[in-house]
Amino acid sequence: MTTTPLLPNHLSGQWQTGSGPGTPLFDPVLGTELARVSSDGLDLAAGFAFARDQGGPALRALSYGERAGLLGAIVKVLQANRDAYFEIATANCGTTTRDSAVDIDGGIFTLGHYAKLGETLGNAHALLDGERIRMGKDPVFQTQHILSPTRGVALFINAFNFPGWGLWEKAAPALLSGVPVIVKPATATAWLTQRMVKDVIDAGILPPGALSVVCGSSAGLMDQLQPFDVVSFTGSAETARIIRSHPAVAARSVRCNIEADSLNSALLDPAATPQSEAFGLLVGEVVREMTVKAGQKCTAIRRVFVPRALYDAAAQAIGARLANIPVGNPRHEAVRMGSLVSQEQKAGVLEGIATLRTEAELLFDGNSTALVDADASVAACVAPVLLGSREPTKARLLHEVEVFGPVATLMAYDSIDQAHELIRRGEGSLVCSVYSADPAFIAAAALELGSAHGRVHAVSPDVAASHSGHGNVMPMSLHGGPGRAGGGEELGGLRALGFYHRRSAVQASSAALDVLAASACALTF
Ligand code: NAP
Repeated sequence: MTTTPLLPNHLSGQWQTGSGPGTPLFDPVLGTELARVSSDGLDLAAGFAFARDQGGPALRALSYGERAGLLGAIVKVLQANRDAYFEIATANCGTTTRDSAVDIDGGIFTLGHYAKLGETLGNAHALLDGERIRMGKDPVFQTQHILSPTRGVALFINAFNFPGWGLWEKAAPALLSGVPVIVKPATATAWLTQRMVKDVIDAGILPPGALSVVCGSSAGLMDQLQPFDVVSFTGSAETARIIRSHPAVAARSVRCNIEADSLNSALLDPAATPQSEAFGLLVGEVVREMTVKAGQKCTAIRRVFVPRALYDAAAQAIGARLANIPVGNPRHEAVRMGSLVSQEQKAGVLEGIATLRTEAELLFDGNSTALVDADASVAACVAPVLLGSREPTKARLLHEVEVFGPVATLMAYDSIDQAHELIRRGEGSLVCSVYSADPAFIAAAALELGSAHGRVHAVSPDVAASHSGHGNVMPMSLHGGPGRAGGGEELGGLRALGFYHRRSAVQASSAALDVLAASACALTF
């Protein structure tokens, strides 16, 4: 096997290559080595200090409106290099063009959204949180809550499944807030993140230190964090535990956002029939969620709840649609689902299916069909698998084990209260979708399930053509979830800026608050 060159890291305003042989990145379909990454030997302390001391002040010298302009300029650079990103995604992530677009165009769209939102904040350098509040009888002395950009760095430790979107959905609100970014992409798919950062740095849009990338080992990164820094993590619950218990978070109160794994659900109204639109909409969405990015989405539907009378019809309809999805080399025009990102993920998904099978029956398995234009002994491809349980109240693993691939479990419920209870056994998820033609059913489900989810997505016949999709994370809506989903919050429009700002109460005379208000902007959602 040929040894490929190391991708340089960008730290301290310079391109720096790590030492040693590095870790290889592979094409998960062809098995060939594409590049190597290494963070060994980097002076991380100097890099974090440079971002904090050079990048931060330069960004904060600009207004929100000016920083929004920088985001707009980044959008143009990414659009100009879009073709290269699709090539990298196909090679390093094994995704079809349609699936690469979710990551690449999704990231560009999110940046563009924040560029527009930022314009509305104009020339301000801080945000006003609510109205002034009188502190006593005399109105001359009042409290005004303000949000000021934190004077530290934002460290992003990202997951392998969204190397493009995962960077920009975090970087857009951070840079708009005036906070410099250091991103550490997941090693397996680090190339796309590195290339996007490279294009933006080469274009000279951002001040030195505003955007850095460290590829390879995460060793030592968390140790650099200081009290005014923030860390935003996306990945497994296991690594999340390490991040949360790190001294930077535990002892230095570094603000920490966690996006971990999640057993998202889909719920069909008991009033549905196999002929109803709600039934068809559920089937279509489950198939889409199982197959987009080969099911490697933190928001993908993992558990599908249908009334007991519709269990067999749903199994048949979903299986029939899955049978029409050719799996294999994403470069082949007939292929609709590519591969997982690595052999490690393939092994993990196969192991996960075996675990779920101890409590579930097999309703559909596409793995008996040959791959298109791919060697099954080399490619990290796994075809869709639909499992089923007629007795989900007796199951434990089905509500606990997230299989990060094209796998979902159909479950029968006997009453809507039981369905809600089973959904909540996921112990906190990113999203639940509800399929019904009845607005009252949807509203009741939202109230029942909202506290256990970051998002409730209702699909009714009247929004069939316009809804944004169960698994699509939109920048104007909250992303995150309670409990095992990590307890984090991202996006949600300008709400995202809160993570990168510090709230303080300014208690002062009306005259002083008038001066303060002149350089701030009221934060409204
Ligand atoms: P992971 O192993 O937790 O890795 C996530 C990120 O954390 C990567 O950048 C990883 O770097 C880094 N990391 C690993 N150990 C670390 C440590 N001790 N300190 C600091 N950073 C560390 O997750 P993954 O490999 O991306 O995926 C594993 C599982 O997590 C999946 O199978 C799935 O169950 C879940 N997942 C959830 C989401 C989500 O969005 N909710 C996304 C992806 C995966 P390296 O890559 O260099 O190890």
